[in-house]
Formats: sequence, C-alpha cells, structure tokens
Amino acid sequence: MAQIEKINLKQHLTHKVFGIVSDIVETTGEQAFVIGGYVRDLLIGRKSKDIDIVVVGKGIELAENVHKAFRGSKLSVFRSFGTAMVKIRDTEVEFVGARRESYRRDSRKPIVEDGTLEDDQNRRDFTINALALSLRKETFGDLIDPFGGIADLEKGIIRTPLDPAITFSDDPLRMMRAIRFATQLNFTIEENTLKGICDTAERIEIISKERICDEMNKMMMSQTPSTGFKLMDRTGLLKYILPELCAMKGIEKVGGRGHKDNFYHTMEVLDGVAATSDNVWLRWAALMHDIGKPRTKRYDNKLGWTFHNHNFVGEKMVPGIFKKLKLPLDAKMKYVQKLVSLHMRPIVLSEEEVTDSAIRRLLFEAGDDIEDLMLLCEADITSKNEEKVQRYLRNFKIVRRKLKEIEEKDHVRNFQPPISGEMIMEMFKLPPSPMVGALKNALKEAVLDGIIHNDYDEAQKFIINKAKELGVENIPNNLSNK
Ligand code: ATP
Repeated sequence: MAQIEKINLKQHLTHKVFGIVSDIVETTGEQAFVIGGYVRDLLIGRKSKDIDIVVVGKGIELAENVHKAFRGSKLSVFRSFGTAMVKIRDTEVEFVGARRESYRRDSRKPIVEDGTLEDDQNRRDFTINALALSLRKETFGDLIDPFGGIADLEKGIIRTPLDPAITFSDDPLRMMRAIRFATQLNFTIEENTLKGICDTAERIEIISKERICDEMNKMMMSQTPSTGFKLMDRTGLLKYILPELCAMKGIEKVGGRGHKDNFYHTMEVLDGVAATSDNVWLRWAALMHDIGKPRTKRYDNKLGWTFHNHNFVGEKMVPGIFKKLKLPLDAKMKYVQKLVSLHMRPIVLSEEEVTDSAIRRLLFEAGDDIEDLMLLCEADITSKNEEKVQRYLRNFKIVRRKLKEIEEKDHVRNFQPPISGEMIMEMFKLPPSPMVGALKNALKEAVLDGIIHNDYDEAQKFIINKAKELGVENIPNNLSNK
C-alpha cells in the first residue's frame, strides 16, 4: 500500500446520493465506494457530472434502491453488463458490482467475475483513476489509494497501476486515454508507462475508430491540443491513426536549402486556433490545412521548395481521412474542406495590393465562415522572423478592414445572383443548356468584379447585353433597349 497517512474527504461528498447510498449499505451490510474520475476531478478541482459507485455486492439492486429514494430520478439497467444508471437531475450515477477482469489477446472485451475492491482498483487504467472513497458510515470519506494516485496527481503524472505492457495490451484504448489525460490535465506520462505505449502501439488497430476519435476530440478540445498529437507521434500511435500527418514530418534539404517541418508547423497552427476559438471543426481544419503538402512537394532550382496547389490537394484528401476516422461526412466535413481549400487566400491577398474584387470573391467563397478563415490564416503565420510576422499581421488587419467595408457596401457574403437560371431561361426562351450557365456565370463574375452592383435592374441590363454578345436569338423587345 503506497498510502501512508489517512486522508478523509468527507467534506467534499456533498451530493445527496452519497448519504443515501451510505444509508442503504448500512442495511444490506455491503461495502460501497465512489471511485475513478469523480474522485480524481474532486481532488484537482475539476467539475464532474458523472459519479461512479462500486459496490462489493449487488450493483443493480443498489441502483434500484437509490432510484426509489430519489423522486423524479430515472433508472436504466444494463443487465448484460451488470451495471445500472440512476439519473438525478443532470447527474448520472453509475452503479457496478466490484469486479475482476481478465483479457484474451484478440479482444478488448474482458472475462468478468465478481471481485473485491482491490480487484476493481486493479482493473482501472491509471493510478489517478483508481482512487476510491468509502461510503460506509464508520469510514465515510476515507480515501483508498493503493497505487499512490494522490502522489501522482500532485506530481502531475499518468502511470498505470500494474505492468504497462499488460494494461495496454489488455485494452489498447488506454493508450489513447493516457495521452488524452496528459493533454487535458497537462500531465506527464511516466517513463515506463510511455515505453509501454511505444511497445504496444500497433495493438491500437483492434480499437474502433469511433472510440479513437472520441479520445482525439477530447484532446482537440484541450487548451494545447498539440500535446496529444506530438505524444501520439512520439509513441508511434499516429502512424496507425493518421499516417497523412506523419508524412508531414521532417525537413528535406537540396543544396543546403531546406523547407520547414510541416508537422511541427501544423502543431503551432493548431494551438494558435485553439487560443482564439472553441470550434472543434476549426481545430480539425488547422490540423488538416497543410495535409496536401507531402504530395505536392517539389524542388525547383530557381524557386526552391514549392507545394503548388497543396490547398486543393488537401481539400480532396479530407473526405478520405474523415471516412477512415468515422468522422461525420456532413456539413462539418464540408466546412473543413472549405477552410483547407481557402487557407492561402488571405495570405496571398495580404502580399499584394488588396483589390475590392479580390475581397468580394473571398467573401463570396468563404460566406459565413470568413471569420474562422481569418483566424486560421492568422494562426498560420508561424515564422521565426518577428518582423515578417508583424508585417503579415498588419496586412491582415487591412484585409479584415476591407472585408468589413465591402460586405457593408455590397452584401456579397451570402450572395445569390439577382437573376436566377430559371429567370434567364424564361427571359430568353431558352431550354436548360450551357448558354444558361454561361449567362449566369457572366452575371456572377460581373457582380464580384464590381462591374455592376448586386441589383436587379443593373443585372437585367447586363445580362441582355451579354446575351446579345453571345448571339442569343430571343432577346425580349421591351427590355432589349433598356
Ligand atoms: P472523463 O469523464 O474525462 O472521460 P473519466 O476517467 O471519468 O474521464 P470515464 O470513461 O467516465 O472517464 O471512466 C470512469 C472511470 O472508469 C475511470 O476513471 C477509470 O477508473 C475507469 N475506466 C474507464 N475506462 C477505462 C479503461 N479503458 N480501462 C480501465 N479503466 C477505465
């Protein structure tokens, strides 16, 4: 037992459910404990809504009794798992009988038997997740910490209670959980535990992509998401999960000329957007923004290293990556694609003279995502040359000011041409044909170029002239000389 002095946390067990459980086990003679994440979060001052209660006895019966004691609570029983959940307002209290688990090599489904509290703590993934507080009256609030979890919490360490090789091999998801906790809590993974992950990395392949992504999204939503991705890389997990990101690593040199390491650059951009936005999909866009670079990398004697069209190649790679990771293939993916595709535009704009036409086009293409695009672009400036960074940021300010001015003046952000395809067909008695598309496109370009305003009368005049120019036959008389 690593625990020496007795610690009691009675004063923190303020939720009514703890007193009720205590009363019930007094009558049944069972032992019950609050265990795991709730205790950990209580000690580090993190809010936690889920309470896990382990009982050396019958978990489901205890849940049923607790449900009876709380009016308005909801009971869900999962008999095949031997667990039950009581929802008391917005708190979910999970009940389970103490268990011993043993694993077979080909599955993360354990063989489960009834066990003691010690067995139950042994099956926990990390020392900081194995802490338990007694709910028996005579010992209410006493901490049971067999693996030195408190000391690890104080030192900020993630460590497996048992041999890491076995812990990770039994359930490889724990490798992702280790990295996720290290990222969320800003903790260090203890040396042996880290080695355990490196040695077991390939077993991540038996874990479903949904579960891997749940963990990755939790890393993504941390303050410094790069910590997670760098650890995934260091331990060898990344190449099984996102090889496209691994391919961005390294610096190649020709004749002494190198390019930047695109993986570490991406990590900086990811942390950059995390500092300015909570949008998880903007963070995914940051992770993917240069994903097309390895496939487009060329060396040119005059230009040096180039990555032509990497934004478009990246945009095309996004659906394959999302599909493989079982991420949603819906508007969120389209949003990521859009930002990957457009991420160069504000930079190019800020290098040149900023014309109204270029600004209109950017507004039109980015639509409501223009602000997110600007945040991505600002984070993308990671040069070591401070003078260069400041110059770009100054230019971005000009781009932002212009975006605001043009949007106020021309309203092109969610622009719909004032004359639709149907209206064009009706006006010129045209069947659906390439000519309709050509006229519609010419109109859109004219508005974006500022040749005409985004206005019906001007559009009508323009399109009639254009139709004449393109040899359309049925020019309406009453409008043709307008
Ligand atoms: P969070 O709520 O941030 O996801 P948590 O630790 O509370 O963190 P849960 O998934 O709710 O996460 O798990 C509750 C507890 O169950 C953990 O604290 C841990 O003791 C145990 N646990 C969860 N998953 C595993 C696992 N894969 N292997 C071993 N123990 C686990």
